[in-house]
Amino acid sequence: MENFSFEDMSKIKRDSLGHNVPLELFRSIRLIGMYQGLPLNGKGTTSVVGKKIGENLSVNSMDELFDVFERLKIGIPSVVKQDESGFTVAIEDCFCEGLPQLEGKYVCDLEGAIMQGALSKLYNKTVRVREVKCNINGDERCEYEIKM
Ligand SMILES: [Zn+2]
Repeated sequence: MENFSFEDMSKIKRDSLGHNVPLELFRSIRLIGMYQGLPLNGKGTTSVVGKKIGENLSVNSMDELFDVFERLKIGIPSVVKQDESGFTVAIEDCFCEGLPQLEGKYVCDLEGAIMQGALSKLYNKTVRVREVKCNINGDERCEYEIKM
C-alpha cells in the first residue's frame, strides 16, 4: 500500500473508544491548531488539505457530496441560489455553530476547499469556492459561493 484512501479512513477497529471523536477535538485542530497556529490563518494549508480530501471522496453528484457532508457531520448543505455562474450553498448546523462570535472572521475555509476538490474532480474543471458568510462573523449561517 502506498497511500491511504478515503475508504481506508472508515476501517476502524477500536474496541473501547469506538468510531467517534468529540467535536471539541475537531474544532481544536481546525481553529486553535490551523486557523490560529499557522501563518495567514492557515489559508494555504486548508486549501491544499481540503482539496485533497475532496478529490478523494469520489462522489458522483452534488447530492452525493452533500450526503457525505451530513454523514461526516461537517454540516447540512443545501443550494439556496443558482444562476448561470454557479451556486450559493448554505450549511446548517456547521461545526462552528455555537462558538463565540468574532466579527470579520470566516473560519470554515477547509470545508469549502473540500467542496472545491470534490466538485472540481466531479465536473473535471476548476471550480472556485469562497466562504461568504460564517456563524463566527455573526451571519445567520455559513454560506459558500461556488463559481463553475
Ligand atoms: Zn461554519
